[in-house]
Amino acid sequence: MSSSPPPPVGRLAPSPTGLLHLGHARSFLLAWWHSRARGGRILLRIEDLDAGRVRPGLTRELLADLAWLGLDWDGEPLVQSRDTAALRAAADELLLRGLAYPCTCSRRDVELAASAPHPEDGETRYPGTCRGRYASVAAAERESGRPAGVRFRVPDGKVLWRDELRGLSRHDPAREVGDFLVARRDGAYAYQLAVVVDDARQGVTEVLRGDDLAPSTARQLLLQRALGLPHPRWLHVPLVVDEDGRRLAKRHGDVALASLRAEGTDPRAVVAWAARTAGQSAPDRLTPAELLPRFDLARLPLSPVPLAAATLAQLRAARP
Ligand code: GLU
Ligand code: ZN
Repeated sequence: MSSSPPPPVGRLAPSPTGLLHLGHARSFLLAWWHSRARGGRILLRIEDLDAGRVRPGLTRELLADLAWLGLDWDGEPLVQSRDTAALRAAADELLLRGLAYPCTCSRRDVELAASAPHPEDGETRYPGTCRGRYASVAAAERESGRPAGVRFRVPDGKVLWRDELRGLSRHDPAREVGDFLVARRDGAYAYQLAVVVDDARQGVTEVLRGDDLAPSTARQLLLQRALGLPHPRWLHVPLVVDEDGRRLAKRHGDVALASLRAEGTDPRAVVAWAARTAGQSAPDRLTPAELLPRFDLARLPLSPVPLAAATLAQLRAARP
């Protein structure tokens, strides 16, 4: 009996903290193509745990954006904020096993204690102030009179992991960020923990996302190891940048998919742009499904994708 490998399970994991833009569209299309082209599943997860940054109504917008692009997904979306029991269990397990500890430092405490913000990504390294300081979360809160968060105890040393696109990658979380939060002082579970727990419980086997998250992968690998969870395959794709080489962000309001939708842009022009900038041969209008028979991720260029003003103008003017 021949056994073929089980079909891959990919995912789209948008956060309703800002409007999705052309860069998100390209990463999501790539994740969708990469999974679907091999008969795989694609799941949707709404990453809405950061209550301070989540904006009402944006989940509806992003669902409309995905549908507009022609992307579908399998099953019901997992909305992270609706069920945090698994996150609580994971944080408790780390605490119980001494792999995490309570921290009562405010953001300002951390900034004052740290030598300098990490130059590359503006992250501040946590200097370990509360390591070994408190016996339990309850004791931490009682003794400090403040709410406590929970930090993962990052082992010293470099973390090596394999990116399916870029090969061997190495990061040094102990030096880059130090012990990082898995639960925040406001009670919200942190992104790093949520990704790891939810990828595992959704059965995700492939994580294809923007390469701004590559340094997070080492942290997620450490958490997976600590919690005994499987490692997915990782693929980090280059970001879309503006003419000055800066990654697309909220300040580029005109690249929001919601604006293009409202203007009546043909989404097939956006899909064709995403395909061509990913090295695929494509006509100038395309649905995601039309590319499936010939999608080849090996053709993806591994450098940032500049979005010239002229290209953006052309996309915006495309009418069905
Ligand atoms: N929700 C995250 C974001 O929008 C992506 C998480 C991930 O792909 O791991 O930046
Ligand atoms: Zn602390």
